[in-house]
Amino acid sequence: MRRIIVAGNWKMHGSSEMTADLISGVARRAFEASRISEQRELGYDILVFPPAPYLSQAVANSDSLPITVGAQNASQFDSGAYTGEVSLAMLSEIGCEYVLIGHSERRKLFNETDDEVAEKFAACLSESVKVRPLLCIGETLAERQSGTTEAVIAAQLDAVIDKVGITGFADSVIAYEPVWAIGTGETASPEQAQDVHAFIRNKLDKLDAKIAQSLRILYGGSVKPSNAHALFVQKDIDGGLIGGASLEVDDFAGICEAVQKIIEKT
Ligand code: PEP
Repeated sequence: MRRIIVAGNWKMHGSSEMTADLISGVARRAFEASRISEQRELGYDILVFPPAPYLSQAVANSDSLPITVGAQNASQFDSGAYTGEVSLAMLSEIGCEYVLIGHSERRKLFNETDDEVAEKFAACLSESVKVRPLLCIGETLAERQSGTTEAVIAAQLDAVIDKVGITGFADSVIAYEPVWAIGTGETASPEQAQDVHAFIRNKLDKLDAKIAQSLRILYGGSVKPSNAHALFVQKDIDGGLIGGASLEVDDFAGICEAVQKIIEKT
């Protein structure tokens, strides 16, 4: 079984106090649910993606806790005159282990193209960088309604595969996030999500079965404690990328508790 990931994308929310409280609160609740507080190890991964100013603090706050820190964005460039940008080497140096690449809000609000997304993904794979890409892909409501979901997903994946090859996915994570389900309260049904996850895995499987079968594909789009279990037990869904419900200890810990129940049954 692939190890489940529960990832929280805080977007542009939070404060120093929230960073400390959320990390300690979620870790405490996850330990309580797992009843293994002595071992300090869970059977699944918890990731948090705070805003850039809180990343160093989040790394310090999560020290010796089973929570890994990632950034919400990074530059595709190594260094230079790129005012306002943050490089992957900088993120790596402060202890970030993951970075979101191509979140739909960046694609839509900041005009990130498939090419730029692919460049950022490729930059993560450079020798000197130790930050894993978590690639976000997904269709809009209009695309789903016009029956082009698979074509859209395939094009978003192909842009990255063309740049880095299938081996670029060996140590990466994908999040399928239907744009119409992000922040709307509307969730893809477990069957709708599973269908797209299977499409993604099958597409990659044709290029490299080993990489495709070990790749973790997360679902994102209004995941809550009440729907996490039904989504995450699907065959090709390996956890979630969570926005709104990652900002409150009760909600995020509730999702971790749902995962704990899944792993105890397997
Ligand atoms: C997200 O921002 O990636 C997301 C899935 O948000 P929400 O859970 O709020 O829909």
